Amino acid sequence: MDKSSSISATYGCYTFTLDEIQKRLPRPIFEAIKSTIAAGEPLDMGFADEVAHAMKEWGVEHGATHYTHWFQPLTGATAEKHDAFLELSGGRPIERFSGSQLIQAEPDASSFPSGGIRSTFEARGYTAWDPTSPAFLIYNEHGATLTIPSVFVSYTGEALDKKTPLLRSMRELNRAARATLELMGHPTSVVHSTLGAEQEYFLIDRHLFHRRPDLEVTGRTILGTTPPKGQQLEDNYFGSIDDRALDFMGEVESEAWKLGIPVKTRHNEVAPHQYEAAPIFQATNLSCDQNQMLMDLMRKVARRRNLAVLFHEKPFAGVNGSGKHNNWSMSTAEGRNLLDPGATPNENVEFLYFLAAALQAVHKRGDLLRASVASAGNDHRLGANEAPPAIISVFLGTRLTEILDTLLAGKSIAAVQDQVIQTGLEVLPQVKKDNTDRNRTSPFAFTGNKFEFRAVGSSQSSSMSMAYLNVAVAEALDGMWQRLKARLDGGEDRTEAILAVVRDVYAACQPIVFNGNNYAQAWVDEAARRGLPNTISTPAALLALTSESAKTLLSEYGIFQPHEVDARYTILLEQYNRMLDIEAVQMIRMAKTGILPAAYAQQATMADAYAKVSSCGIKADVQREELGVYTGMIEETLTAIDGVRQALKNAPDEHAGPEKAEFQISTLRPAMGRLRTVCDALERRTDEELWPFPSYHALLFQ
Ligand code: ADP
Ligand code: MG
Repeated sequence: MDKSSSISATYGCYTFTLDEIQKRLPRPIFEAIKSTIAAGEPLDMGFADEVAHAMKEWGVEHGATHYTHWFQPLTGATAEKHDAFLELSGGRPIERFSGSQLIQAEPDASSFPSGGIRSTFEARGYTAWDPTSPAFLIYNEHGATLTIPSVFVSYTGEALDKKTPLLRSMRELNRAARATLELMGHPTSVVHSTLGAEQEYFLIDRHLFHRRPDLEVTGRTILGTTPPKGQQLEDNYFGSIDDRALDFMGEVESEAWKLGIPVKTRHNEVAPHQYEAAPIFQATNLSCDQNQMLMDLMRKVARRRNLAVLFHEKPFAGVNGSGKHNNWSMSTAEGRNLLDPGATPNENVEFLYFLAAALQAVHKRGDLLRASVASAGNDHRLGANEAPPAIISVFLGTRLTEILDTLLAGKSIAAVQDQVIQTGLEVLPQVKKDNTDRNRTSPFAFTGNKFEFRAVGSSQSSSMSMAYLNVAVAEALDGMWQRLKARLDGGEDRTEAILAVVRDVYAACQPIVFNGNNYAQAWVDEAARRGLPNTISTPAALLALTSESAKTLLSEYGIFQPHEVDARYTILLEQYNRMLDIEAVQMIRMAKTGILPAAYAQQATMADAYAKVSSCGIKADVQREELGVYTGMIEETLTAIDGVRQALKNAPDEHAGPEKAEFQISTLRPAMGRLRTVCDALERRTDEELWPFPSYHALLFQ
């Protein structure tokens, strides 16, 4: 290995950076792009031709033969269609890339899910470069593809992707937070929401992976008996990383750095073969894109190294699942983190104010946040007894809670201020420690200078959860602005007015503040007493999108028109219903073509052995009983297969309908549960050599 290749020497070399833009474009264009990036202002595409030309020149110099708009349709994956730069001019080849190609019409928008939008509106859409996310190069053996992060929008303005609503939410948060800071007397030119997404994943042997059709098709093992030693001993977390995984991580990281993805942390997770990668936080939009890029990169590197990376939220029953912890905050143009307690009394009270806004956002819009992380895969985490629970609450830690409680108790402002100032000046490390020690069970935890939304699924894009969080905080800030303004206009002292608003908000948000153990049954009971919803299934969680209140919020804030919210509800419900169908079909196939043949072979061996022993005149009653039991299990398997088959057959036709979702939960899932139970029992009684699928033990310990 070339020891001289430091990270900083090659960092970002595959990206079309601002430096490149400055070098290659006239100053006014560079300035416009720069301020677009800094302030999130829409870019004037009047100079699209110049930008496209410069991008192409840079790309071609770096070996690019093709370009592609890279966007995030509602399928959950990313989409790209490559075109060569090639054009023929009078029969002679030239490399061209025009402004209209940079903002490109997509005549086949109709092949992506739109949830009914396309039946009422024209199917055509367009993709356009999002300048807040730099273009990058993806290399192959024969050159590279210039990849342009893009929005995907219909001609009538509907968002057909996940990036557009996120950008809109960032715009709203920027507006509301700037107005707040201005009212407080500390104006700034921009406020970005920031995101650092910790990505959990499993890494397993690729040969074994290919022998598990359930993993290949659905991303998780839908059959398989849990191993005697899973993570029970918890000896894996932060343990030494084995060489194979470390080599994989090293390759991913070196590629990621070239793409300007600031991956920083890597470690073992709780389960065997489970790991985490975390980048340094950035503006939310960029972080969301880079998380998608990182996942793509991991899939490719894993394939090259004969490994398979699993992003599913629960690849193995009974073994710790995977999440994507979204660390979120707000940052000003000057780089001030609004959720950092800061070092001065002024910053301290403002910090409490922004913290209160986040609390109110979660209190009022917890259902929308829950909906944003709902999926068939994530139901196995949020709906089961593992981290974090489906009840959305906020962890603040004892120190902060004390401060806010003092305020709530109507103690003198001076007392609170004193505490707050201490927090800023001396006790802050304690606040941080307090949090990191105890936040592991909370879905939404304050961790010293940011919130960590831990309910996001490992396979999900962060975009929608961040979009809903941003807009909910914008709404909270707008409401608080009115109250603060009224107090200030009434001549109240600034600090007093700010703290009074914080107190009112905190008082109203009491039900969602919970610092205890979120896994305990006691919390489930307590949450019910507090009236907090415990929405354990995707269809129930998605109902938030049908509420008038959510639609009003999203349309008033310019994120979605009401019919777009309906469309998203339809798409998400359909994805849920289809995923369960796919799992059920896969399960039947594995049971019929893999498990039953193995079981018959085992049964024949048992029958043979019994017959031979009895023919010697030895009474082998126990063996006969065993054979009877085993045969009974085969019968049960046949019955259970039929149960799943019937459930698939009897389900309502309408894939996107709530009736079907209801049926999946009440009938299909229990039928699948019965089939799994009996197949797993057979696995425990069948010769390993005969068993057709690699066991959990093989998958997790080889
Ligand atoms: P841990 O949560 O494991 O203690 P860290 O606090 O270092 O680890 O950070 C975890 C993630 O949070 C990292 O991706 C980090 O960049 C991100 N992060 C740190 N500060 C912020 C912030 N102000 N806004 C968003 N993300 C942040
Ligand atoms: Mg963390």
